[in-house]
Amino acid sequence: MSRPEILFPLFAPVTALAGVGPRIGKLIEKLAGAHVVDLLWHLPSGLIDRRFAPKIAQAPAGAVATITVRIEAHMPAHSRRAPYKVRCSDDTGVMDLVFFHANAEYLSRTLPEGQVRVVSGKVEHYDGMAQMTHPDHIGTPDEIARLKAVEPVYPMTTGLTPKPLVRAIREAVSRAPDLPEWQDAAWIAQRGWSPWRNALNAAHAPDSEAALVGGAPARARLAYDELLANQLALLLVRTHQRRLAGRSIEGDGRLCSEVLAALPFELTSSQTRALAEITDDMASATRMLRLLQGDVGSGKTVVAFLAMLNAVESGSQAALMAPTEILVRQHFATMEKLAEAVGQEVAILTGREKGKARQAILDRLASGEIRLVVGTHALFQDDVAFSDLAFVVIDEQHRFGVHQRLTLAQKGSAIDMLVMTATPIPRTLLLTAYGDLDASRLTEKPAGRKPVDTRTVPLSRLEEVAARLDNAIKDSARIYWVCPLVEESEAVDLAAATERQAALAQRFGDRVGLVHGRMKGKEKDTVMARFAAGDIDILVATTVIEVGVDVPEATVMVIEHAERFGLAQLHQLRGRVGRGERESVCLLLYGAPLGDAARARLNVMRETEDGFRIAEEDLRLRGGGELLGTKQSGLPAFRIADLAEHGDLLGAARDDAQLIIERDPGLATPRGEALRNLLYLFERDAAVATVRSG
Ligand code: ADP
Ligand code: MG
Repeated sequence: MSRPEILFPLFAPVTALAGVGPRIGKLIEKLAGAHVVDLLWHLPSGLIDRRFAPKIAQAPAGAVATITVRIEAHMPAHSRRAPYKVRCSDDTGVMDLVFFHANAEYLSRTLPEGQVRVVSGKVEHYDGMAQMTHPDHIGTPDEIARLKAVEPVYPMTTGLTPKPLVRAIREAVSRAPDLPEWQDAAWIAQRGWSPWRNALNAAHAPDSEAALVGGAPARARLAYDELLANQLALLLVRTHQRRLAGRSIEGDGRLCSEVLAALPFELTSSQTRALAEITDDMASATRMLRLLQGDVGSGKTVVAFLAMLNAVESGSQAALMAPTEILVRQHFATMEKLAEAVGQEVAILTGREKGKARQAILDRLASGEIRLVVGTHALFQDDVAFSDLAFVVIDEQHRFGVHQRLTLAQKGSAIDMLVMTATPIPRTLLLTAYGDLDASRLTEKPAGRKPVDTRTVPLSRLEEVAARLDNAIKDSARIYWVCPLVEESEAVDLAAATERQAALAQRFGDRVGLVHGRMKGKEKDTVMARFAAGDIDILVATTVIEVGVDVPEATVMVIEHAERFGLAQLHQLRGRVGRGERESVCLLLYGAPLGDAARARLNVMRETEDGFRIAEEDLRLRGGGELLGTKQSGLPAFRIADLAEHGDLLGAARDDAQLIIERDPGLATPRGEALRNLLYLFERDAAVATVRSG
């Protein structure tokens, strides 16, 4: 069974809606999503109250009013730039309707002289006379009830006008089927929430400002639906995983102790603790799914590698998957060296391994000759097979979907999984992203790390900053220069970075490199390698260096327009420096004037380097609306729920989900059946699949 038929109309493309052609369809897709269901979740951000219906003389300037008038006379424009006016009246006064670039034929049809019409729009006073420029609505007197309504106002995108969007949303909402209640009856009653479809209708028809806030009953109900879908899906996947037979992976410690002896440093105590937690978990017969959380530079890779060796000692294979080519190469370089010390080979598998070379790797993985492999998502292509894959490490997992995680899990039997993330995730978010995952945290920086001196500098002092770089370079510093983030436009990001590189090159010559998201893997590696080797002093970058890159010699991080970055990202970027023996600086260049939220973010950056604290502050500061940070961090962005406003509902949803799974693990009761609809509605299809197969 897949998605139930009753939901089909909601998963049709938006172009299936009346009045939505390919052009408007594209805009709607960009704004809300490609399917009808996406419009259900596109909730109003404001409203226009058209219920005020005064006489002309009582209509104050600036008010939105719906006025019944008699059409007196058309006064066509006497020049091209002058407006076309239509004079109207009622028993209290006279008002002009004003139209620029008018279509005279259309106006004489909709506003026939001598007839009564209802017009709705903003009233203005001009030369002591009432007027209305481009009324939003014109209707006949029998349409007044429809016009005197409260109209929802939706978040928009350029190129799209409100009318077709409102119309599409209205139709989408009308397509919502009547679905059996999936929420607990007592809980719904206690909250005073209405059934799903009523709540949906109400959320799209706010009658006051109070109906627009997250706490409004209709919105809270929908948010809770979404949170429950999220928590239930995570728990289902988790339960499924637990129910699957695990295997006990127990090494003899031989390879690990050799590597430990070969390391030029001692593990920190939190590394040792994390490694013990992981190997204990691997040794147990249940299936492991554990998160290794550690700030940038906290030394996760070594821990992961030792855990991989633990699997190799037990006679099986281990794989590490990372989201980008750069990261994979970096892990590979680190691990290859360490593995060599104990006579193990590490293979690499990315989109760049092709043809014969790739085939050779595949053969040797399938035969078991190679025990360790590092790769991108290329690891879970169909023709990749292992002789006995028992342990998988996923770096920066939030960039991979659950689906990909499950696919890789199918490459072996009873695979134990370790998920590494450098984004310190606050507890609430952790819950939404991973459910009740076991977690190990690396809480200290490796020995020898120095604090990073963080300063905020207005962009107007860019010249001084550049002059300071001069000195730093003479002192053989290596510098990252990160260019402004422009929302969702790689092309614009790139232009800014290219321009900055050119400007810096004028001053510093050819020792200025550029790395950006559009570069081919090889080109990127070349530039990164030149920077690492010291052939380049300044590396100008778009945010591609965000994840994982390790150049211990880099001691200066300049972030241009730092106010445009989210806290988590600033923190990650700053983590690129302060990795070596030398003092490091982070310069946060900002465009003045700073908004309150941006100022608060930059202050947090100056005050602390504690990633977990920064993460908590991030969640607190982000509040409603500013989803940018979430998006960048790859954590699931909710459509309706807003953790700042609905945080208390999250705990309830988790408890609810737990109860459901305890009582009805197969979702077989009537409520269970209803919950399946909920999961499909919020596109948690993969979770439903685990119910069927489990
Ligand atoms: P992360 O992946 O958590 O950002 P890495 O594993 O890349 O961090 O480690 C960053 C650097 O710190 C690497 O060069 C690594 O060799 C080094 N390192 C790891 N653990 C320690 C330690 N206990 N003491 C000193 N250096 C360490
Ligand atoms: Mg196990």
